[in-house]
Amino acid sequence: MIEKKFRIDFDESNVLESVTYTLVSEFNLKPNVLRADIGGDGHGFMLLSLVGEKDDMIRGIEHIRGQGFKVKELNGHIFHDYDRCWSCGACVSLCPTRSIYCVPETQEVRLNTDTCIACGSCINACSVKAIQLEL
Ligand code: SF4
Ligand code: SF4
Repeated sequence: MIEKKFRIDFDESNVLESVTYTLVSEFNLKPNVLRADIGGDGHGFMLLSLVGEKDDMIRGIEHIRGQGFKVKELNGHIFHDYDRCWSCGACVSLCPTRSIYCVPETQEVRLNTDTCIACGSCINACSVKAIQLEL
């Protein structure tokens, strides 16, 4: 069994359930939707954790790609530059895994690299570029 995380972009709001249903029923994968954002026009993305056998995962992802979805595996690393960060907190609420958080005692914003899935959601929130994605 392996676990991988993916970002799936779509342009119709009703695909979220159909994608997860297909991965479960046809490929025996266990999906966990970490975050889903859907705009008013139906465009959006979801961050998905998948657990299953490696071959099933390869086939399942290829199937989703074959349906026209853009699928990107999330396997980079986030670097949080504490020297640049001024703990404004703008990035904190955007994190689907609560990996970037405010330390109550010091009010400093810190990153838990053990739980960060490198989804990139926090990067654009930072005006001083204290968060970087390293591939
Ligand atoms: S990249 Fe940022 S938003 Fe995404 S999981 Fe890591 S800390 Fe959270
Ligand atoms: S948005 Fe940037 S400066 Fe603000 S807390 Fe997050 S990393 Fe630090």
